[in-house]
Amino acid sequence: MTTIGIDLGTTNSACGVWTKDGVKLIPNRLGEILTPSVVSLDTNNELLVGRGARQRLINHSDRTVATFKRLMGTDHTVFLGRMGFNATELSSLVLRSLKEDAEAFLGEPVSSAVISVPAYFSDNQRQATRQAAELAGLKVERLINEPTAAAIAYGLHEKQEGMFLILDFGGGTFDVSLLEYFDGVMEVHASAGDNHLGGEDFVDVMVADVLARNGLSQEAIPPLDLQNLYLQMEGAKRKLGPGQTLTLTLGKKTVEFEVTQDWFIEICTPLLLRAKAPIERTLRDAKIPVSSIDDVILVGGSTRLAPFRAMVGRMFGRLPSCHIDPDTVVAMGATIQAGLVMRDEALDDIVLTDVCPFTLGTAAFNEPYVDELSYLPIIERNCVVPISIVRRLYTASHNQSVVGVKVYQGESPNINKNIFLGEIKVRVPKGPKGVEAVDVRYSYDANGILEVDVTVVSTGVNKQLVIERAPGALSDAEKEAARAKLAGLKFHPRDGEENRMLVARAERLYESSLDHRREFVGKLLDRFHYALDRQLPHEIEEAQAYMKDMLDQLESEHWF
Ligand code: ADP
Ligand code: MG
Repeated sequence: MTTIGIDLGTTNSACGVWTKDGVKLIPNRLGEILTPSVVSLDTNNELLVGRGARQRLINHSDRTVATFKRLMGTDHTVFLGRMGFNATELSSLVLRSLKEDAEAFLGEPVSSAVISVPAYFSDNQRQATRQAAELAGLKVERLINEPTAAAIAYGLHEKQEGMFLILDFGGGTFDVSLLEYFDGVMEVHASAGDNHLGGEDFVDVMVADVLARNGLSQEAIPPLDLQNLYLQMEGAKRKLGPGQTLTLTLGKKTVEFEVTQDWFIEICTPLLLRAKAPIERTLRDAKIPVSSIDDVILVGGSTRLAPFRAMVGRMFGRLPSCHIDPDTVVAMGATIQAGLVMRDEALDDIVLTDVCPFTLGTAAFNEPYVDELSYLPIIERNCVVPISIVRRLYTASHNQSVVGVKVYQGESPNINKNIFLGEIKVRVPKGPKGVEAVDVRYSYDANGILEVDVTVVSTGVNKQLVIERAPGALSDAEKEAARAKLAGLKFHPRDGEENRMLVARAERLYESSLDHRREFVGKLLDRFHYALDRQLPHEIEEAQAYMKDMLDQLESEHWF
């Protein structure tokens, strides 16, 4: 029986299988190794997972969801149209898609997997990951910590014992872990990170700068133009170099814009500098001098950014290890572990610290922008628990008589996107704004219990709220219901067998052709993907017929 290895990422997922020649990464139904972790439902309640779903993020945002891994282990519901899903269910849809791709690729059923999870995942989040797999019909042989998977892919467990620093810079998060390999066990020591820092932030900054230069706001241009602008900037980010001139359509305006590395560095340096803090914090927490680190390993798509590599190189006075593709290194490690599991030789992998898996905060007026409430994190994700932190908040208006402390869990700067856990209201003596104050204390323990304690500074009045959020494991009946709901969803024609075969065939032809012929096949593919993305059945049918006809002709060499 085959056990596959899976990297279930926030932005992208990937899987692989262990063969006698080592790791073989498995292409999805579109022939690609990376499957974006995005789920969308079209108006017929047909399901799209991966690139097709990702393309719908901006213009079908009410039916499409990404980055739900951040919600793992909570019971937060996301609506796609009228159907509600929690993060476990959404993850199970991605896993189901990967499982089906693996089965098509291997030509045999796949019913078990090793799945990687962030080192800072709590028991609760690990449990949710196992449940997602179960809903997708996969038995979890092992969960493996992402930094450990990366270390295994680099073969660090086969070298000497040592200390390794893993820098994982993905689409929305930056995670730093210190790993020690000792006595056959990989231990994840201190970890730190920035949960608002990832590749998507660079694209946001690029888009914002282009719009600002043209005196435009996001709202001022049509959604499709905005979506294209994002895609163009994403593409440009990946090809940073001496300069690329892009033609941008911004509503009624069409502009030529030159993307250069200098421009990128100018506008993105603040983001790059933010990546330094968690690296320094990890080393400081672990009381480890840079000289004791045996290897620095780069993981995650955003470590491809040359300015990031240069910064890391300067910090450590040497080049980090990055010879394995940073997009797939975690999937490779999970796959190697899957191979070891099958031979009963799996590597032991433990996390030494118990950490708070998400940020807990409140809402406050952020002077001087007093007209809008913003998120104020109190306990930051990744803090070692138990932990207790107090913050003083002042009244925001004249003669205010009540202070309401709202409690949120989540990583978004926008409070409405975080999960509301409860509120404590206390009376304060009236007076000028900014004089009266409350002390807000958050205490979080290893059992996942949050205690919020609010004290009015002038009167000593005190109120408490205890929030227990361990959404228990699903009962068998609940599991059955979830399974029935998910099984009812059909994959979209985008992902249909026939389309997949045509794409695979065209890609093979592309690989084996050169020059004009190759260019022509490339255009055919683009045109076909375009038809698939438009999702109009008659167009897809036409496109299929045309594509098939062209491929037949090309393959029979009656062409050119
Ligand atoms: P996650 O672990 O969050 O699923 P990944 O490791 O797959 O994420 O990284 C995704 C991010 O990597 C995206 O923001 C993407 O833009 C970025 N990325 C991928 N390739 C490149 C590249 N060549 N240059 C810069 N950034 C890249
Ligand atoms: Mg990742």
